[in-house]
Amino acid sequence: MDTIPLVQASLGDQELAAVAEVFSSGWQAGQGPRGKALEQELAARYGAGGAVAVSNCGAALHLALLALGVEPGDEVIVADYTFPAPAHAVRYVGGVPVFADVRADTGTVDPQAVAGLVGPRTVGVIAVDTVGLPADYAELKAITDRHGLFLIEDAACAVGATYQGREAGALAPVACLSFHGRKGITSGEGGALITTDPAHAAHARLRSSFGIESIFDQARVVGLPISVFTDIGYNYKLSDIAAAILQVQLARVGELLDRRRAAAAGYAELLAGEELLTLPHVPPDRTHAWQSYLVTLAPSVDRAAVAADLRAQGIGCGHGTWACHLQPVYDTTQPCPVSADLFAHQLAIPMHAELTGNQVERVAETLRTALQANSQPTTSTAGTQGGAA
Ligand SMILES: *Cc1c(COP(=O)(O)O)cnc(C)c1O
Repeated sequence: MDTIPLVQASLGDQELAAVAEVFSSGWQAGQGPRGKALEQELAARYGAGGAVAVSNCGAALHLALLALGVEPGDEVIVADYTFPAPAHAVRYVGGVPVFADVRADTGTVDPQAVAGLVGPRTVGVIAVDTVGLPADYAELKAITDRHGLFLIEDAACAVGATYQGREAGALAPVACLSFHGRKGITSGEGGALITTDPAHAAHARLRSSFGIESIFDQARVVGLPISVFTDIGYNYKLSDIAAAILQVQLARVGELLDRRRAAAAGYAELLAGEELLTLPHVPPDRTHAWQSYLVTLAPSVDRAAVAADLRAQGIGCGHGTWACHLQPVYDTTQPCPVSADLFAHQLAIPMHAELTGNQVERVAETLRTALQANSQPTTSTAGTQGGAA
């Protein structure tokens, strides 16, 4: 029985050839020629004032908050249903993450919840394009503009997605991307900060390199320039090896996303009418990057048992993402009931660009059978819907 992994990167000969070039180029560390070229390509792609290539999206979020001047005690409203990187970043700078509940249909942050949480100490909002689906930026922008707050788009999962015809990564003045192995395009680990403000980009680039200018650039200056350290920075640079891989991957966004779209369309067709789950909803004004494919199981279904059945048959699966407010690290009593509900009932099934049509069929069929086998009959007269397996 061949196994069908939950996630799989699409890295091949083109990426290997790009890496080989960097090996013989004389510069493998960060902020070299490959990193600069990648930054230019990213800035062009997103029509941005600046793009900074960094080691991961968590670093990009940290640098974004530093560039925006978030200070200890400041409150930042963060989407609750997500990998907890945004709330962690708020904590890195001594801020207080305030968790906003999400829409039940999309899992993206609920603008009304955001509006209700704005208070005297609020300085900004981090919205998340949940597993690749853009949030409601028109409504969010209206709220942040009204209150003079910053708005950051965490587009970690959303490269290639669109909202009202615009690219995810350009939906807020500052956006953060991830190139982790589980995202749509990858260099193993990697990230980028995209911003409309060149000053923010310069600030972030400096802080990503211990607080000094590119050492590659310094080495080309005639004479003996000696960098002066005036601010504490971090080492968040992306290596030129990773940048070279990403240049190739960036050119493949369309091709890889088409393949993920085909898998998503296959699931939607094959799982249609299955009463024990709800399929992902994509509002008509946006497109999904399908970083993950999350189905919401009916309350009568034992999710752990379904997952065990899938795994026993070689099919990778996982929970959806996290309800951040429930994570002990944040020590909060804030309620986010919709997020908590999605956290309890969503299931991620295999989604990547290497899935074949046959594999999609096998996943859908196995899932239907597992749902029937692991659902408590409800007390209503309807009973379980037959004919599925
Ligand atoms: C994966 C992810 C991150 C973290 O990305 P890294 O590159 O691993 O730091 C941040 N935010 C969201 C929404 C993510 O899904």
